[in-house]
Amino acid sequence: MTAQIIDGVALSASIREQIAQRAAALTAAGRRPGLAVVLVGEDPASQVYVRNKVSACEKAGFKSELHRMPADTTQAALLAKVDELNKDSSIHGILVQLPLPAHLSSHDVIEAIASEKDVDGFHVSNAGLLMTGKPLFRPCTPYGVMKMLELTGINLRGAEAVVIGASNIVGKPQAMLLLQAGATVTLCNSKTKDLKAHCQRADVLVVATGRAKMITGDMIKPGAVVIDVGINRMDDGKLCGDVDFDSAKEVAAWITPVPGGVGPMTITMLLQNTLEAVERSEVAS
Ligand code: NAD
Repeated sequence: MTAQIIDGVALSASIREQIAQRAAALTAAGRRPGLAVVLVGEDPASQVYVRNKVSACEKAGFKSELHRMPADTTQAALLAKVDELNKDSSIHGILVQLPLPAHLSSHDVIEAIASEKDVDGFHVSNAGLLMTGKPLFRPCTPYGVMKMLELTGINLRGAEAVVIGASNIVGKPQAMLLLQAGATVTLCNSKTKDLKAHCQRADVLVVATGRAKMITGDMIKPGAVVIDVGINRMDDGKLCGDVDFDSAKEVAAWITPVPGGVGPMTITMLLQNTLEAVERSEVAS
């Protein structure tokens, strides 16, 4: 078997086209979607992510603001910036790029973002709403994975879904969204005993560990859907996922590549969340 590719670039392009049309209609009605991204310091990977986010916003016709702050920014200065953006009615989404320099508390900064502008979905009230089955903002990466599964026509009701990696930004919200879609979910972490046995039961396997190529074809159930969230930079400078693509594609029915899989979908769902924030703010006003 050679798996079919779930093409995140192509799926993203069609979703972004629809988003741009909705943004144009909102702009014509005097409600141009606005996203503010705050970047503290000079982390090279963060600079690339932020650049991609801002450029995707501009292409979709959003207002986008990049607020760069120096690496020695104080907590008070960062909180003041968040407060200013909370009060700015032209800004519907606020994203503080993580990780922050070590002297800053990312928890306190995220909690300072108005929850109705928290387009990353990391605020505890948004995590709680997701947990109780009434999500406001779904965190962008797991939301993107759900969109890929939906657009590929994967039936999740009663499916065995296994998520490897249990971070607050990917694994845990991913498990919640799969559960809400009717899957039976197993959430694994670095302490899991016999990871292979869990993987081999999965109709849908989502991997988000940051361990390059750790899931190999022999760990995958024949015909499974394999979603690789991992982004790892190899010694030769190339990117690879947490799944060993070459062996996995011989066993799976569907698989996402790295790059060109989940990555572009994450940014697309950031646009989607910002749009949803504008549409909700219209209803509220
Ligand atoms: P994290 O380091 O916060 O969490 C990793 C999780 O994996 C932990 O729960 C840990 O227990 C688990 N884990 C680690 N080694 C394991 C092992 N051997 N077996 C089982 N579980 C193991 O990472 P994160 O922020 O969730 O990111 C995970 C990966 O996803 C990284 O490669 C990151 O770059 C990538 N990522 C990609 C996107 C995207 O847009 N595609 C977005 C966010 C993160």
